Amino acid sequence: MEMEELEFDLFEDDVLVKKVIIKNIKPCIISEGQISVLMQLDSELHHVLPIMILKFPPGKVNYIEKKNVLTLSLYDRLITIYPSGKVSMNKTNTKEESIEIMKQLAGSINEAHYESLKRKTVDYSALKEKLSKIGPLSIYNCLPQTNCEECGESTCMAFAMKLLSGESKLNECMLLHEMGYINNVKCLKSTLGSQIMEILGWNG
Ligand code: SF4
Repeated sequence: MEMEELEFDLFEDDVLVKKVIIKNIKPCIISEGQISVLMQLDSELHHVLPIMILKFPPGKVNYIEKKNVLTLSLYDRLITIYPSGKVSMNKTNTKEESIEIMKQLAGSINEAHYESLKRKTVDYSALKEKLSKIGPLSIYNCLPQTNCEECGESTCMAFAMKLLSGESKLNECMLLHEMGYINNVKCLKSTLGSQIMEILGWNG
């Protein structure tokens, strides 16, 4: 028997995504006792998905450029977003939880839509190539290398590794915000470029 569709309001403002409909709920095939939720947003997302890549760290994102399909590894689950506005989410506990997470993602989608209106575009091939050349060592080389632990990591190398996996944000290296370390910031900017700095959580 088909389940009744459930509609939820996410935002009231004049934004791209305002509503989501839960179309189907099934037992999750990879996590016993949890559910897999299929949702439909109230807008198409063709133009938004390439910009969404910039909103998450490389270790959390898998983007299939040919199909314009984005899979995010967030909140200990996989969330796949399709250009039609379809979204699938596995390893979920309740439908309410899926809506709560969808609301946060819809916020990022609406931001990306706003950025697209300001003509922000992403050259995904160039970005992918650049990301493939960036490893923890290239980031570490630009960090202050004091192992001061202010970011919560015991070494700057551990911090560099967590940046790429999305477990830390560049902003969390406190020394980078001090004038004495301005050359380290310059080094990161020239190694990574502003888009990747943004992806890794820099807004300094
Ligand atoms: S706060 Fe910065 S300098 Fe200190 S350990 Fe972390 S990455 Fe290294």
